[in-house]
Amino acid sequence: MSEEGDYRGRRWFLRTLAQGLGIFAASGGANALLPPKPGRKLEKSAVAYRDSPNFGQVCAECRYWLGDKRCERVKGEISPSGWCMVFVKETP
Ligand code: SF4
Repeated sequence: MSEEGDYRGRRWFLRTLAQGLGIFAASGGANALLPPKPGRKLEKSAVAYRDSPNFGQVCAECRYWLGDKRCERVKGEISPSGWCMVFVKETP
């Protein structure tokens, strides 16, 4: 590969890395992946919440489901047939 090709490859890599970090930071960054502090809930958008199941997984079967359209980890009204990326299967 030529020197110019190497230069373009590095520029593309650095630009893609910067864009990826920007998207990660805008979506809540590592905070979205860490357990919330007691009393603090996550925004729906930070956990990719949706009102429909994900391959059979639903909020009503999640360990964080509180009933009455509430969740221990996510803010707002939550559907029992919804889902988000924090889902953890409730074990009996
Ligand atoms: S799947 Fe997400 S929104 Fe639904 S109960 Fe679990 S943590 Fe809450």
